[in-house]
Amino acid sequence: MNQPIGLGIPEGPPPTLAPRRKTRQLFVGDVGVGSDHPISVQSMTTTKTHDINATLQQIAQLTATGCDIVRVACPKTVDAEALPAIAKKSPIPVIADIHFQPKYIFAAIDAGCAAVRVNPGNIKEFDGRVKEVAKAAGDAGIPIRIGVNGGSLDKRLLEKYGKATPEALVESAIWEAGLFEEHGFGDIAISVKHSDPVLMVEAYRQLAEKTDYPLHLGVTEAGPKFMGTIKSSVAFGALLSEGIGDTIRVSLSADPVEEIKVGDQILQSLNLRPRKLEIVSCPSCGRAQVDVYKLAEEVTAGLEGMEYPLRVAVMGCVVNGPGEARDADLGVASGNGKGQIFVKGEVVETVPESKIVETLIAHAERIAEEEGLEEIEGARAEVKVTK
Ligand code: SF4
Repeated sequence: MNQPIGLGIPEGPPPTLAPRRKTRQLFVGDVGVGSDHPISVQSMTTTKTHDINATLQQIAQLTATGCDIVRVACPKTVDAEALPAIAKKSPIPVIADIHFQPKYIFAAIDAGCAAVRVNPGNIKEFDGRVKEVAKAAGDAGIPIRIGVNGGSLDKRLLEKYGKATPEALVESAIWEAGLFEEHGFGDIAISVKHSDPVLMVEAYRQLAEKTDYPLHLGVTEAGPKFMGTIKSSVAFGALLSEGIGDTIRVSLSADPVEEIKVGDQILQSLNLRPRKLEIVSCPSCGRAQVDVYKLAEEVTAGLEGMEYPLRVAVMGCVVNGPGEARDADLGVASGNGKGQIFVKGEVVETVPESKIVETLIAHAERIAEEEGLEEIEGARAEVKVTK
């Protein structure tokens, strides 16, 4: 029972599918964005920005979930007036999201926001204001995100291409970045979002070929939680596996906290963030000899709030059970009303079905204690189905 235990933390950095694309570097507040920095996860508040308390409360929830950078909308003067208080009190850098009215860009910069996102497609006479924007942002030392969006493409490009093609999105972004460069401003991140993941991936691939600016990935209007999670995971997975992407935002028609959880899990899955607790559970089948769903949920709930980098296997029978349980740091292979408990590949005990959950939790806690790892409140485990 007390043999030394090696955890599932690989020696050296874990393998990734591709090296990061080399980019320029910039800082959004204290968060570095670009190939020298870890990929950050962003979200956007859904509160009325002028409701300062509600907005700060949501930012606090996002921060607790692991959000690195938060964006707030600024559609009205009352929202612009709220930006100084929000920027000052937010525990993470705040980006002001500006559409239509250039005056709010300057208000956001004056308010102390860590960056400004502009949409050149729908800011009136934006090209003529770039010089002023570049000067104000340059004087404040903050970056600008040029956020091109398939749904609000510059009408000149819409006329030229007929619709928001990848080429049109990229041309819009490169054109605007070029205007900033003419005024000596290069502290730029770019996004070319589209609601179609295939178009989006193609646009970012083309953009990555043409520029070395850091890229903010997003499938815009991705949909409700389930569909949006799939679309974002597929599109981000394609790009991140090619080394493209420096900061990500998962857009869901759901609580923004969910966006952070999904973004975090995408990065963990690709070894672009250290993996935390991972539950490997079988989908169950006609051979299952225990209720795998219930068992997996109970183990996940029991380990919630811990951030051990442990891989815990919950398997329903003895077909694949012992193999998966052996490969995990900790596992159970169930059968005949009993569970064989594995620790680092060795069967350490066999317990009745009713004791499986508490035994696994006790082993997890013992491992964490022995290795001196600390519990981190608020961490969440997600059940991962492997077959
Ligand atoms: S381990 Fe595989 S074979 Fe056994 S119950 Fe689970 S899905 Fe079925």
